[in-house]
Amino acid sequence: MSTLTFLGGTGTVTGSKFLFDTGKSQVLVDCGLFQGLAPLRRRNWRQPPLDLDRLDAVVLTHAHLDHCGYLPVLMRHGWRGPVFTTRGTADLAAIVLADSAHLMAEEARYADEAGWSKHQPALPLYDAEDAERAVRSFRPVDFGARRSVADGVDLEFGRAGHILGSPGHTWGWGTGAWS
Ligand SMILES: [Zn+2]
Repeated sequence: MSTLTFLGGTGTVTGSKFLFDTGKSQVLVDCGLFQGLAPLRRRNWRQPPLDLDRLDAVVLTHAHLDHCGYLPVLMRHGWRGPVFTTRGTADLAAIVLADSAHLMAEEARYADEAGWSKHQPALPLYDAEDAERAVRSFRPVDFGARRSVADGVDLEFGRAGHILGSPGHTWGWGTGAWS
């Protein structure tokens, strides 16, 4: 039986992560950062809330940080799978993730100067290399094209008009599809 587990984007609008598990394969839809107040941001520092050895692929719906900004954390933990998204999202997310890594480095430097951090030197959640590795994992998929992303899981992006490159929630698996 297939299950969908909400690992973020619930109780808060940030940190979107939905794990789709067919029993044979696992696909994570979105890999967003928690943003906002400190208790939310601290959730980014916990162990990733899924078994990365079982994760076959990630699908990004769009390039906002609360949908893609956690991806470099998976890379930092050694995950090396493909990340399927549209070309527009791939281009935008490359900028967003590089910027995010830069801001985290700045934040760590500032924490050092201000003496906030428990760690010496302060650690960023991820660095530029993790972000670049995430970008190299992108596998662009055209709008309207059906693509197999894992055993028994097909993907098809439709247009949603949220931001550049953002598909709707049209994706499907097996012989059926849903929007
Ligand atoms: Zn958005």
